[in-house]
Amino acid sequence: MTELTDLTLTQALDGLRARTFSSVELTRAFLERIQQVDPLIHAFLTLTADLALQQAEAADKARAAGDDKPLLGLPLALKDVLSTQGIETTCGSRILKGYVPVFNATVVQRLYDAGMVMLGKLNMDEFAMGSSTENSAFQITRNPWDVERVPGGSSGGSAAAVSAGMALGTLGTDTGGSIRQPGALCGIAALKPSYGRCSRYGLVAFGSSLDCPGPFGRTVEDVARLLQVIAGHDPLDATSVQNPVPDYVAGLTGDVKGLRIGLPKEYFIDGMQPEVEQAVRAAVATLERLGAEVIEISLPHTDYSLPVYYLIAPAEASANLARYDGIRFGPRVEKGEMWPTYKATRRQFGEEVIRRIMLGTYALSAGYYDAYYGKAQAVRTLIKRDYDEAFKQVDVIATPTSPTTAFKIGQNTDDPLQMYLADVFTLPASLAGICGLNVPCGFDNQGLPIGLQLLGAAFTEEVVLRAGHAYEQATDWHTRRPVVRHEA
Ligand code: GLN
Repeated sequence: MTELTDLTLTQALDGLRARTFSSVELTRAFLERIQQVDPLIHAFLTLTADLALQQAEAADKARAAGDDKPLLGLPLALKDVLSTQGIETTCGSRILKGYVPVFNATVVQRLYDAGMVMLGKLNMDEFAMGSSTENSAFQITRNPWDVERVPGGSSGGSAAAVSAGMALGTLGTDTGGSIRQPGALCGIAALKPSYGRCSRYGLVAFGSSLDCPGPFGRTVEDVARLLQVIAGHDPLDATSVQNPVPDYVAGLTGDVKGLRIGLPKEYFIDGMQPEVEQAVRAAVATLERLGAEVIEISLPHTDYSLPVYYLIAPAEASANLARYDGIRFGPRVEKGEMWPTYKATRRQFGEEVIRRIMLGTYALSAGYYDAYYGKAQAVRTLIKRDYDEAFKQVDVIATPTSPTTAFKIGQNTDDPLQMYLADVFTLPASLAGICGLNVPCGFDNQGLPIGLQLLGAAFTEEVVLRAGHAYEQATDWHTRRPVVRHEA
């Protein structure tokens, strides 16, 4: 018999509905798996085992009484950037150690309302700044496919937990790639929704014009089920849109006949790992065999995405992080007077966060605002227009998610620019506010997963999900599971 922790979220839901097992049995299996495997992976910052078992018991009772909420009794876990009422929320930072929110983020509340069983909070780069989860103040999460390598970031804990079978699904956030890139490096399905599709209320802010919460799952269908629950307008977030939420699961028809797929020449660059390019081109050929039409396109401003992102995101971060003053949140380093207290408290930020605050403050300062921040905003519009033009010709754009497979722990930590390059293929879509899905599409010769990125116009999640699902039906990459073992 397959282990309960090997099931997909959809299979687990079928099992609960058929009474093959209970939510308590399912939840116990996941708690046991976490106990066995997490000492090697280090994905969880907080485990809420008692809460999980209580919720599982309640879910079983509710089901027996005829309740069938969309996620009833399914064990899930959340990136520690999402506010959880009564559960510590650190954002991977010492400056929020011990902070216990008095409210739930909207996306969290929606998961609770849909019946999820809450397993705990997952590790991340401090304030979601990073591409490897090595910037967490607390621990380094390891890639389940090779524990000497990073899981990607900043939602590395969320990706590693699903990949290693420690949760049926998780939520992460994507500001410049932090859902899609760890999804690729850990070999699972991962969706960055369009900006405004899912509420940011209660998501600890990094770059407010870029931040998007979104789901990780073993399959595209699992991701669609989670998106269904968290998507939709929220009166508490003025940037969340009113657009109706389609039925994402019903949209997974397996059919891509006539779908127009754009292949942008700017995304196949020198220096990318040859196996990544081969796997992505092979994946596009598979979609073509299934009836899609492949069209070469150009997104001419792609090259500017990295500098533009590293002006805008730090500028917004420098404003958002001003609130951590030791007065309102987290631990205070008391120095008697206000300014010394403020300064000493803010020394708790890690190196990368300090770097971003300095970059952002500089870019926004009088005399430099127009030259840096203003210019970056203008070029951001050009990047968005490239996509607007492209989506007149095509329905979906196919690219690699990451230029390389998972890198070694420590490999890029002394070279911030090298680390920033990990997101070179995910940043442009973030700046344009469009949606993007990672789907596993192969392995390199070291056995590390490779990801295909499918981008869609804003609020066409159903289109990228349909394409990703059809690709999954024709391939078996998503069925491979890592064997977690400690090599050191
Ligand atoms: N790696 C990028 C950064 O460090 C993106 C992070 C993210 O999407 N949260 O800013």
